[in-house]
Amino acid sequence: MRITVLSGGVGGARFTRGLLAHLATVPGDHEVTVVANTGDDMWLHGVRICPDLDTLMYTLGGAVHEGQGWGRDGESTRVAQDLAGYGLGWDFFTLGDLDLATHLARTELLRRGLGLAEVTRRLAARWDLDRHAGLPQGSVRLLPATESEVETHVVTEEGTIHFEEWWVRHRAALPALGFEQVGVAQARPAPGVLEALGGCGVVMLPPSNPVVSIGTILGIPGIRDAVRATSARVVGISPIVGGAPVRGMADACLRAIGVEATASAVARHYGWRDEGGILDAWALDAVDASQARGLRGPSHHVASFDTMMVDVSATARIAQRTLTLAKESA
Ligand code: GDP
Ligand code: CA
Repeated sequence: MRITVLSGGVGGARFTRGLLAHLATVPGDHEVTVVANTGDDMWLHGVRICPDLDTLMYTLGGAVHEGQGWGRDGESTRVAQDLAGYGLGWDFFTLGDLDLATHLARTELLRRGLGLAEVTRRLAARWDLDRHAGLPQGSVRLLPATESEVETHVVTEEGTIHFEEWWVRHRAALPALGFEQVGVAQARPAPGVLEALGGCGVVMLPPSNPVVSIGTILGIPGIRDAVRATSARVVGISPIVGGAPVRGMADACLRAIGVEATASAVARHYGWRDEGGILDAWALDAVDASQARGLRGPSHHVASFDTMMVDVSATARIAQRTLTLAKESA
C-alpha cells in the first residue's frame, strides 16, 4: 500500500503513528509519505524551528512527551531559563534543551546549503521511524510541504502576528480576522511532494487542524491541484467531535474563516472532489453520526465510528477503518 498523509502536529502525528502500527500487521510492502505543515515554522534565537515536523519526528520515533503530545520526553529547560536572563526572545515559547539540539542540527544543515527536505531526511534518520514502527527500511518518509519559508501570520485588530504568538501566547483568544501565508505566491512544493500525491493509492487527511495545518499545506501552489488530480482515493477524518476540537483551538481558526465547528461543516469546507473540492470520503466520530446523512451521496462516502485516539492500538483501529472507507469509495 502506498499512502500519503497531509499532517499538522499532534493530531496528525498521533494518527500517523496508529496508521503505521496498523500497517505493521498487514502483509506486503507499504510506503507512507507524511507531508508536514511548515506554516508554523519560525526563526527564534537564531535557530529554525519546525514545530509540526518535530512533533511528527518525535512521535513516530518514540521520543515524544506523551502527555503533552509535542516536545521531547524527559525534557528540561535550562537554556530557556538562562536565555531569559538576557531578556531575549519570546518568553511564552519554551525551547526545551533536547529540542534545541534538533533546532541547532537543522539550522547547521540549512546553513550548509541543504534544502529542508534533505535536512528533514537526515534528522529523521536518527530516529529510525521505519524500525520504530516495525516496518522495513524505507517504508516511512517525512517531507516538509515546502522548502520555502512560508509562515502563517494571523491578522488581529491589534496587528498581524506570527501564528505561534497567537496560538501559544494568546491561546487563540484574540479574535482572528484572517490568516496570511507570507510569501506563498513564490513557494513550490518540496521535492517529492507532488510525486507522493500522484503516485499513491490513498491520500489521508488525518484529524489535523483544517485551517492552519491542512489548509496551509493545500495553500502551497500546486498541492491542492495535485490532490484534486490524483488517481488515489482522498479520505479525511474529522478533528471536530461533538461540535468542538478534541484538543487545541481549531474552532477559533474555523470561526476566523467563517466555517462552523462541526464535523459536517469541515467536510463541506474541504468539499467533495466531484464538486470542485478534494474529498472522496469522510469519517466522522460516532457521536456525530447524525450528520452523515446530510453529507452522503453516490460519490460522497461517509462513515462514522469512534475516532478518539486514546492510545496506539485504538488509533490503529481508526486508521484501519479509514482505509476501509477509502477502499469502499473506489
Ligand atoms: P497541531 O499542529 O499540534 O495543532 O496539530 P494538528 O493540526 O495535527 O491537529 C490538531 C487537531 O487534532 C485538533 O483540531 C484536535 O481536535 C484534533 N484531535 C486531537 N486528538 C484527536 C482525537 O483523538 N480524535 C480526533 N477525531 N481528533 C483529534
Ligand atoms: Ca501545528
